[in-house]
Amino acid sequence: MLRSVLSGVLAAGLAISVGQAQGGSPAPGDLLKDQAVKAAVDAAKATEAQTIADQIRFCEIPAPSFKEDVRGQELKRVFTQLGLQNVRVDKVGNVLGDYGGAAPRPRLVLAAHLDTVFPEGTDVKVKREGNLLKGPGIGDDCRGLAVMVAIIREMKKANVTIPGSITFVANVGEEGLGDLRGVKELFKVTLKDQIDRFVSIDGTGVHVTNVAVGSHRYRVTFKGPGGHSFGAFGMANPMGAMGRAIAKIQEMKVPSQPKTTFNVGRTGGGTSVNSIPFEAWIEVDMRSSDPASLAAVDANFQKAVDAAVLEENQRWGKPGVITVVKELVGDRPAGSTPENSSIVRNGLAAATVLGLSSNLGEGSTDSNIPMSLGVPSITIGGGGRGREAHALTESFDVTDAWQGTQHALLLTIALAQK
Ligand SMILES: [Zn+2]
Repeated sequence: MLRSVLSGVLAAGLAISVGQAQGGSPAPGDLLKDQAVKAAVDAAKATEAQTIADQIRFCEIPAPSFKEDVRGQELKRVFTQLGLQNVRVDKVGNVLGDYGGAAPRPRLVLAAHLDTVFPEGTDVKVKREGNLLKGPGIGDDCRGLAVMVAIIREMKKANVTIPGSITFVANVGEEGLGDLRGVKELFKVTLKDQIDRFVSIDGTGVHVTNVAVGSHRYRVTFKGPGGHSFGAFGMANPMGAMGRAIAKIQEMKVPSQPKTTFNVGRTGGGTSVNSIPFEAWIEVDMRSSDPASLAAVDANFQKAVDAAVLEENQRWGKPGVITVVKELVGDRPAGSTPENSSIVRNGLAAATVLGLSSNLGEGSTDSNIPMSLGVPSITIGGGGRGREAHALTESFDVTDAWQGTQHALLLTIALAQK
């Protein structure tokens, strides 16, 4: 996951004004007066040691994107052991389990992602130094998985009854080239048209992410006949086209609000210093929280690449010799859930009644998919303090991490109301 805080001041103001019931359904503050709910919330603090133990155990099972099955099997075992119904694994490897209520709808999906950015062979042993846990993936997103399990455990133990229903999901493919494939499958196939609300617990801290930064990622490959640097001199050069393309991309103008970005991140190609290459490539990433701005920067990028190829061919008088393929390797749609929507207000109110401060933020998470489909959705943190996510030096500070467990638990119950 990747996120940034938008506006703490605005969020705090909103939280204060929405501490009470809305739209007829009980607000988090009212729910805390229910004995079973109160017992579950209290237990979430009392059993935090178990939550941490789960977090470490999950983290020590390697789960690179596309290879999440072993960690998924462990979540399946835990879902079954805790008494969820209809525990199943869908076609792409998402693990699902139901917590039934009085009615099947509204249905909340509470999710956390199984996969990590770390390749096979990475040492995922967790080291503990006082309050600090060190291990790749310990926060992102083993914290989310452990908090999800804590919610199931404490709701079951306290016998919390709900008017709607909850499906818990440990999903695949959130990171990198996983390209949100788990949640895409969930919304487009596995639970198509059956999800009314969606919350992803991703990463650490207490926050509510309601803006989805969309991204388009391309691998652009320039091709030509190539040849000897001396003997075939005069041949149009794929690397020449690539260079022209990079120069044009770097000159693109983008709005600062909504923040819209582009980056040429990787490049390669060529055969030897004395060969005209037959191939050169670049990888490009573009982002915005605004779908129109993302589409605009994408269109400019396409134009820049096409113009670069034309120029290189013209320079050498070789029309059509250099060709280009632009392959879309990442597509995360942009979107947002309004600040005054019930799900966002509940997310902030659940923090306020527990005495926690939270803020709104934007990010690129599993919620991008439901947000782009107009399904009310947010991404929240699992508490504690995470550092250096996506680095081998990732760490998680367990100090007061139970606050995140309580927040996620109370919010889950609030979103399972009518
Ligand atoms: Zn994540």
